[in-house]
Amino acid sequence: MKMVFLGPPGAGKGTMAVRVADAAGIPHISTGDIFRFNIKNETELGKKVKAILDSGELVPDTVTIELVQDRLQKDDAANGFILDGFPRTIPQADALGEMVELDRVINFELSDVEVVKRLSGRRVHPGSGRTYHVLFSPPRVEGKDDETGEPLVQRDDDKEEAIKNRLNVYREQTQPLIDYYRSRGKLVDLDSAPSPDNVYAALAELLGLKRA
Ligand code: AMP
Repeated sequence: MKMVFLGPPGAGKGTMAVRVADAAGIPHISTGDIFRFNIKNETELGKKVKAILDSGELVPDTVTIELVQDRLQKDDAANGFILDGFPRTIPQADALGEMVELDRVINFELSDVEVVKRLSGRRVHPGSGRTYHVLFSPPRVEGKDDETGEPLVQRDDDKEEAIKNRLNVYREQTQPLIDYYRSRGKLVDLDSAPSPDNVYAALAELLGLKRA
């Protein structure tokens, strides 16, 4: 199954993509994760995109398209994949259309109020990547990682100003993809407001997957 998970930041695309990828035996390809990996490892690409990610703006299309093109050529993507966070612009969607024929695009729907609530409460343990949420999934001790006791941090792009910017960018550049894919008969809407287990149940049903 060749799929795109579309939707605003914080809608749970990444969380659901991990579960679906595992259940369906296909790779989860997150452009945001690829950029963050490069930033952490201080690669040339990482140095080029760090300030862009911190601000919530988009990395230029040419850079992102080339990255995805390379990734989709790997053997593990031959029978299917989940693209999470790509495409985010019409030129990216056009380029993707030339690379592969998609089966489905899942449109994760979530209100702006809920997006801000979810993202502003997210905390990360930098060493392991473990994530928490101050309201929905708090650590045992406030501000500390459960396993190591080390301090948790807030991603720069989860700070209030950057969240507002990411939402504006989403509205202006990515939301038009909803109509783009709807008019091509690929789009399925999914309400992302319920709990992760309930969203997953709806998604598994939609995709004909066994529940995991
Ligand atoms: P995400 O983890 O998907 O929210 O992505 C984090 C950040 O990575 C975004 O705010 C952008 O700066 C960058 N990014 C991820 N995917 C793309 C993309 N398809 N096009 C441009 N920038 C991207």
